[in-house]
Amino acid sequence: RLVLGIETSCDETGAAVMDETGLILGESLHSQKEVHMKTGGIIPTVAQRLHRENIGRVVQEAMERSGVTQSQLSAVATTVKPGLALSLGIGLDFSLNFVKLHQKPFIPIHHMEAHALTVRMFQPVVFPFLVLLVSGGHSLLALARGIDDFLLLGQTLDEAPGDTMDKVARRLSLIKHPKCSMISGGQAIELLARDGDRLKFLFKPPMGAHYDCNFSFAGLRNQVTMSIQKKEVEEGVEQGTLLSCVNDIAAATQHTVASHIAKRTHRAILFCKAKGLLPSCNPTLVVSGGVASNQYIRKTLKIVTDTTGLHLLCPPSKFCTDNGVMIAWNGVERLREGKGILSHTEEVNYEPKAPLGVNITAEVK
Ligand code: ATP
Ligand code: FE
Ligand code: MG
Repeated sequence: RLVLGIETSCDETGAAVMDETGLILGESLHSQKEVHMKTGGIIPTVAQRLHRENIGRVVQEAMERSGVTQSQLSAVATTVKPGLALSLGIGLDFSLNFVKLHQKPFIPIHHMEAHALTVRMFQPVVFPFLVLLVSGGHSLLALARGIDDFLLLGQTLDEAPGDTMDKVARRLSLIKHPKCSMISGGQAIELLARDGDRLKFLFKPPMGAHYDCNFSFAGLRNQVTMSIQKKEVEEGVEQGTLLSCVNDIAAATQHTVASHIAKRTHRAILFCKAKGLLPSCNPTLVVSGGVASNQYIRKTLKIVTDTTGLHLLCPPSKFCTDNGVMIAWNGVERLREGKGILSHTEEVNYEPKAPLGVNITAEVK
């Protein structure tokens, strides 16, 4: 059986053809990152236009590279939630036309479920396992109990860590920094932090008085912005032209983000253990999302999993960020279990907001 996966939830147009074992037969990805970097954030109508311009070619490329014909496909799997309405709409319209034309079953996919399950393409991780998703758009901790069964333990109350680091990087005009052209804000922070002293700036850890597994990064961003402003005034330089101590600010920001993520993850592990939610054999923490490629954050998480006896697993970096492959894989998992496969698509719509499973308060004092 063969699945075509299509992703357009945010700023990546992705497609992939995969066989039932998870083998990638062909894939194609078009990223809009560069365009959005120039405007300092995603403009939904621009994202929509770029998806529209690229989706046909991206799907065709993935199909051609796979050597699979439309008639050989068993199903088409496409992200329908959550994400930007205008972006989701392009992928869904394209897919519904495609399945109608070629008379194929359709499998609607939840983008965050796909991120959570990607690891199973590479390792036979068994349910239940704990998953931490940290990216530019999300920050959440969940217990994966099955391919479509998640317990949401915590999520961000304001912005996601990748977004925070992107905004700090923009405030520091790192795009003009000789070492940081053509990389994301998060990557720039990681790179500069290597030469910085995090103890030169002390930022207050977020949510110190909350004993749950939720996240918050907006307060940290405010603190960092205020410190940058103060330094600019002290040094008598224009906004966004600070040169001294940029490395130290990066290091302190990264450290505070890493500690906050680690603290919440540690709590989620303790909560799951106390409630008997994790298996005694090979309990696992899966980490994914663009921010998961940060080595400092990974090392901090490794300390948490080592001290609590969990295995730490991350999909290869390329599969931590948005792509068509993870959507195809989710389609394969659903096809195997016969879950959520539609032969009538009249009722299918996209959902910009969609929680990942049942939300519970995971408190440990
Ligand atoms: P989502 O997948 O939630 O819709 P997204 O598309 O913005 O959101 P990803 O593509 O998974 O997220 O990841 C991009 C984010 O990851 C950016 O915010 C970027 O700054 C951040 N990021 C990438 N590399 C690193 C790194 N090495 N350290 C920290 N952050 C990073
Ligand atoms: Fe994503
Ligand atoms: Mg993306």
